[in-house]
Amino acid sequence: MLALGIEGTAHTVGVGIVDEGCRVLANVYDMVKPEKGGIHPREAANHHAEAVVPLIRKAADVAGVDLAEIDLVAFSQGPGLGPCLRTVATAARALALSLRRPIVGVNHCVAHLEIGRGVTEAKDPVLLYVSGGNTQVIAFARGRYRVFGETLDIGIGNMLDKFARECGLPFPGGPILEKRAQDGSKLLRLPYSVKGMDVAFSGMLTAALALRKHGASIDDLAYSIQEVAFAMLTEVTERAMAHLDNEEVLLGGGVARNARLQEMVGRMAVDRGAQMFVPPGDLCIDNGAMIAWTGLQMHRGGVRMSMAETIVDQRFRTDEVRVTWR
Ligand code: AMP
Ligand code: MG
Repeated sequence: MLALGIEGTAHTVGVGIVDEGCRVLANVYDMVKPEKGGIHPREAANHHAEAVVPLIRKAADVAGVDLAEIDLVAFSQGPGLGPCLRTVATAARALALSLRRPIVGVNHCVAHLEIGRGVTEAKDPVLLYVSGGNTQVIAFARGRYRVFGETLDIGIGNMLDKFARECGLPFPGGPILEKRAQDGSKLLRLPYSVKGMDVAFSGMLTAALALRKHGASIDDLAYSIQEVAFAMLTEVTERAMAHLDNEEVLLGGGVARNARLQEMVGRMAVDRGAQMFVPPGDLCIDNGAMIAWTGLQMHRGGVRMSMAETIVDQRFRTDEVRVTWR
């Protein structure tokens, strides 16, 4: 069985093709890079509308399959930016109708976890999902993926990107700050905001920008932001693992590519006799393969959707999905 998945919740539109063994046959994408300011939902949607059809063709080329061989069309149903979600859903519906294949809407956050389970040895991990818009600690419990902790304001990636932008650095800022942090050495005082199982980053952003105004170097700030923010994330992830008596931690989302975050979470895992898993970078960021793989499993688990049920949901919660495939 072959599934084609289309991702398009935010800045990235991606198309992936996977088979029933979670072999990724194609995973192509294109990312909006605004020249100035943040991501404008309508502009991103226009970008996705232009890019999606060529990407579908490219994915089929890379996979070496004809679109007629696709058995299932999956798409990111939410959460995300409304115009982007609607654009990608429209493309998925058109493809499913023209191929006469079933269509499945997939929860984006669940897909980050499922692709990690699919391509690593992790079986039942606690997922630390760290991306631009989302920051959540997720694990499977009583038939659903439950959110054990999350950001109370902005996503970690969003915080990094915004800080970078205010310092005149291009988007996406996360990987640039990772490099700059290697030249930083002074740990500056930044708020450590952990509330129970939740975290908050907007105070840290404000404080870092204020320090910058008073002459702190970008290198030291990048270093300090990483040390403090990643420590916060490691703490809540460890607590979730302790509560659940779980010995696997999986990283997902674009920020999971960060070597310092991997080092901190990896160290925490070793200290408690647990194991950390990190999917390859192209499967950490927003991508179509994770949507295809999750859609394929949902289909195998008996999920069927009418066209009316493919309506998008900007606030689609992780724990709304009944996980029938595990
Ligand atoms: P996603 O939303 O999952 O596609 O991930 C995009 C986010 O990941 C953006 O906010 C990027 O700045 C961030 N990101 C990507 N690579 C890195 C990195 N090496 N370190 C920190 N953040 C990163
Ligand atoms: Mg994501």
